[in-house]
Amino acid sequence: MDVRSNLEEIQSNIKRACQKVNRKPSEITIIGVTKYVTIERAEEVIEAGIKNIGENRAEGLTEKYNQIKNQVKWHFIGTLQSRKVKDVIHQVDSIHSLDRLSVAKQINSRAEETMDCFVQVNVSGETSKHGLSPEDVMPFIEKLAEYEKVRVVGLMTMAPHIEDDAKLRQIFKALAKLRDTVKNRNIAHAPCEYLSMGMSNDYEIAVEEGATHIRIGSKLVGSE
Ligand SMILES: *Cc1c(COP(=O)(O)O)cnc(C)c1O
Repeated sequence: MDVRSNLEEIQSNIKRACQKVNRKPSEITIIGVTKYVTIERAEEVIEAGIKNIGENRAEGLTEKYNQIKNQVKWHFIGTLQSRKVKDVIHQVDSIHSLDRLSVAKQINSRAEETMDCFVQVNVSGETSKHGLSPEDVMPFIEKLAEYEKVRVVGLMTMAPHIEDDAKLRQIFKALAKLRDTVKNRNIAHAPCEYLSMGMSNDYEIAVEEGATHIRIGSKLVGSE
């Protein structure tokens, strides 16, 4: 499928979801996830107007970054190992998967400037998913105070790949509520305004529940 028409469809779905809940499409950043596809396909996404790209592995990111550089903002969305932080830190604008102090420590020692991070939360409790349990999020964020270059701009979750809309909604609502809790603490290093939630399968529901960053791969670029 042509990326441009995929994007148009996604945009019109976002618009419809926004209308239902009185939000504006401009509040939502679409992150085009290019992990499944070639650099050429990623360039098509950019030509279609996408300004934010997400990659989930250091190697994939570096390969595309070296070609595309700062034509777009880069988001690291996958599990980040401490030893890989140095490879990606100067390429990315944000990290969506922070859930370990060892990674925060590496970010702090390697970053030149403050790094925007989303704390990943495992709301659904699936054992296969990375991320902190909801009850561990606040203590974790408090501990991040010692890493002054780590700025918690929001929370991120990956919902399970299910068709049960009510269950998905419940997960997104829970993340939004937790975001409000953190935000209302007014912690200097954790403004926590954003919600990175919603993927190809569930982004409309995520938008209805307050997503500010949606991460779309297969529905935008295909998956091979
Ligand atoms: C792959 C991936 C996505 C995009 O998945 P699609 O279902 O293809 O849209 C979003 N977020 C993360 C963390 C991913 O790894």
